[in-house]
Amino acid sequence: MVATTEEVLELHGRVRECTACPLHLTRTQAVPGYGPATARVMAVGEAPGENEDREGKPFVGAAGRLLTALLESVGLDRRDIYITNIVKCRPPRNRDPEPVEVDACSHFLDEQIDLLQPDVILLLGRHALTRLLPGAGGISRLHGERVRRDDRVFVPLYHPAAALYNAGLKETLEADMRRVRGYLTDAEAARARRAGGISASEMRTVANAPGGDQMDLF
Ligand code: URA
Repeated sequence: MVATTEEVLELHGRVRECTACPLHLTRTQAVPGYGPATARVMAVGEAPGENEDREGKPFVGAAGRLLTALLESVGLDRRDIYITNIVKCRPPRNRDPEPVEVDACSHFLDEQIDLLQPDVILLLGRHALTRLLPGAGGISRLHGERVRRDDRVFVPLYHPAAALYNAGLKETLEADMRRVRGYLTDAEAARARRAGGISASEMRTVANAPGGDQMDLF
């Protein structure tokens, strides 16, 4: 069952009104997530920064531009991906989110995953890794690996912000992104098999047809 735009927007509305942790006192606005309800790939970062807090969208600053370039380097279009964060409001001065903030917020991420049922979830950085794959290991060992847990496929990656001024890390991220491309091809093939012979490209054509949700961004 593919999520509808209305379901995702309803969730976004609840995020925008949330006052469950102290971050609502210092935010300009909450940043629920952005991307089509039909996205097969979800990317999960840490928390909004200054630009995201101002614009209400995730990954719109320098790290976001690098993320877009990395996706494009393997033929992926950012507009096909649903992007969100562990914590939906900016921590003051971009400090790490406190455990109490993560605990108060992460039911929203769980709902987003349940709703979209993405084929692959990219975990951008150690906060996303620790929250979604507790006990799995560190980012330096797991980056670029495909980790299956609870019927879901996760790929831990270094956070793009860490690679902004580190050429070595950027090369690692580029190599890991090429592996992600391969995992997506596998996931599409598996989905096509489950759908009983309808190919992934045929399914995308259906999703793109007038009235489909593919290009609804929010
Ligand atoms: N870094 C993040 O983890 N998330 C954003 O939305 C922006 C920068």
